[in-house]
Amino acid sequence: VIRFVAGELRLSVLDAGRIWLDGGAMFGVVPRVLWQRERPPDEQNRICLAMNLLLIEDGRQRILVDTGAGDKWDGKGRSLFGLTPIDTRRLLEPAGIVPEQIDVVINTHLHFDHAGGNTRRDGSGRLLAAFPNAEYVVQRGELELARWDNERIRASYQSDNFEPLVAERRLRLVDGDTDFTRHLRLRVVPGHTPHMQMALVAAGGTTVAFPADLVPTASHVPYPYIMGYDLEPLVTLTTKKRVFPEAVREHWRIVFEHDAELPVGVLEEREGRIRARAVELEG
Ligand SMILES: [Zn+2]
Repeated sequence: VIRFVAGELRLSVLDAGRIWLDGGAMFGVVPRVLWQRERPPDEQNRICLAMNLLLIEDGRQRILVDTGAGDKWDGKGRSLFGLTPIDTRRLLEPAGIVPEQIDVVINTHLHFDHAGGNTRRDGSGRLLAAFPNAEYVVQRGELELARWDNERIRASYQSDNFEPLVAERRLRLVDGDTDFTRHLRLRVVPGHTPHMQMALVAAGGTTVAFPADLVPTASHVPYPYIMGYDLEPLVTLTTKKRVFPEAVREHWRIVFEHDAELPVGVLEEREGRIRARAVELEG
């Protein structure tokens, strides 16, 4: 767990385990020779990715952004993605809290490696909210997409991760950019999916961004490094060109959700190129 302070907020980056995904799909049109040294693939051509989550504690509410892949996996799914499932109780342990203490879960989008920990199975196999006192928040358009069972997107969504929440009336749908609390703004960053949202936390002069799959790792900062998974890669490019200069200018601390080596960094521009670098975290 990485902990830091922004104004009156306590922030923690939680480690929800590793997932191994196809390196070619992770880097889209960028040839393997250009990424393999930085992100060495295994014998199945997969690269190792983290699932970093953000916990925001403002003294009143505890807000968790994304929930990782969860622990509802069978052996086949585990081996396909090299998953070591972590249950929600163990996930929150390093932060010294239990799932019952989470008030809000923000889903950036509903892909299984971001929303898989939303729900769990009880002893009798029934699906329940993994955070029993939480309201879950997602963009309305993202839910609609997740429910549209077509062949191109089907592999990325699992209804077990969101339909039980709809049934329990715990899913709050938002439309577009939303000021969620005084310190937390949800901003739509389209491209990877058309309605993916980024969490933007601002307090005490510090801005922390959780852009999810807009920039999954620090290696995805260069503009053409766009995932093959993205539904609208050219929209991703436009969004990156809109968001990154702002991040440079305002020195955002960026949580790279899928980066095991650089979970938090800043963007800087040198000779017209924007790159990520590690950052010292105070507090
Ligand atoms: Zn995704």
